[in-house]
Amino acid sequence: MLAIPADVLLQVHDATNGQAPFLIENMSFSDWASLLAVMKTRPQELSDKIKELASNIVEVCKQAAIENRELNLIVAKAQKVIVDLHGYDTSHLDTVGQVSTNDTADTFTDIYISSIDLTPAELEYFKRKEAIRREAAHIDITTSTRDTSHKFVKSSPFLPLASSTWTEKAVQRVHNRLWKLDTFNYTAPISVDAYMALAGLTDADIDNCRTAAQNGTIYFPAGRTGLDADFPPISSLENGKCSQRLLLHQKGIQKFPTDLLKLKKVWNVGRPFLKCPCPGCEINFTWLDHMIWYVIGNLEKLDPLAPSDKITMLEFQALLWTSWKKPILAQITFIFMREYMLKILHLVTQNKNITLKEILSFDDFKDVPFVRKFTAALLPNAEGLLAQAPSRRNDSIDFEDNSLRRC
Ligand SMILES: [Zn+2]
Repeated sequence: MLAIPADVLLQVHDATNGQAPFLIENMSFSDWASLLAVMKTRPQELSDKIKELASNIVEVCKQAAIENRELNLIVAKAQKVIVDLHGYDTSHLDTVGQVSTNDTADTFTDIYISSIDLTPAELEYFKRKEAIRREAAHIDITTSTRDTSHKFVKSSPFLPLASSTWTEKAVQRVHNRLWKLDTFNYTAPISVDAYMALAGLTDADIDNCRTAAQNGTIYFPAGRTGLDADFPPISSLENGKCSQRLLLHQKGIQKFPTDLLKLKKVWNVGRPFLKCPCPGCEINFTWLDHMIWYVIGNLEKLDPLAPSDKITMLEFQALLWTSWKKPILAQITFIFMREYMLKILHLVTQNKNITLKEILSFDDFKDVPFVRKFTAALLPNAEGLLAQAPSRRNDSIDFEDNSLRRC
């Protein structure tokens, strides 16, 4: 996927000293991308960066195992609060039991294993098998890929609470087609640091994205002509889809959702998407980040005539540095908006009686127009309260008239 020199691969391979969990088997795409950034900009720090990743990998794997086991319950519990708050039926949400953060899911007890006198080599092999078992057992792909044609049906999960680690593993099972998972609300497991590395962005670029997110700025509103930046047609992502050139738009900031379907879509406000320009065309939509992730996993889609994956990766990075830079900035802005959405969601699920005033009084949220607008879309009655209070930035926010169309 990424062009990593062999000596760096060797350093990563050796970083965990032959002890499971191995760093090289557990690094995420974003980890590799951030390593690439260090290689390019601060090569003298590379070995410290690898050591840091190696020292965190046990904890990363432990958290991943807990998430794999508990994610369905975590999402169901949060979803029950939100769906209930909006007055819809929650009887289909199974929220029995407590979320357990206990990571002792080993097949055999330590006492039993030490009683059968394994050699160090046998023990190492066994530990490695246990780690694989733990990982594989919990990614319940039958639930996360079910019902792909009806993602917004009543029973489907929709809260985007899965981590990028989980998403990166789950999406392998659907051949990097994120849109095949059970909700359109997953984002590609590409961190802001990884986008920075891939698109050669500066700290100032990222600060601008953060400010844009705070202000709820929409660069490419859905109602206007989209940005044409040489995106591949959607037919190259999936056979049978539209072969016209795709244009970039962003979802607007939604008002209070008036039905369950809109409540499920509210988590994509500000999100960049690609759509063909033909009127009435129904097989023509993808999120920008879903396309980018698919292309990273299928580089030949960009240029079937390129001599190797390495060359296509370089060409892909060149695209990110030039014509796709603006789209990437819009995507990073959306990531920051999503962070606000999830912080607000967390406050509401912790206390379903929380008021608009209490949410807006949190330090991080003061004078953040996006927080006001999203809270108005999430809390019943908040829109009315906001309308009474003067809002300085009201005019700069691009509203969408709840017509999120297919996604
Ligand atoms: Zn079309």
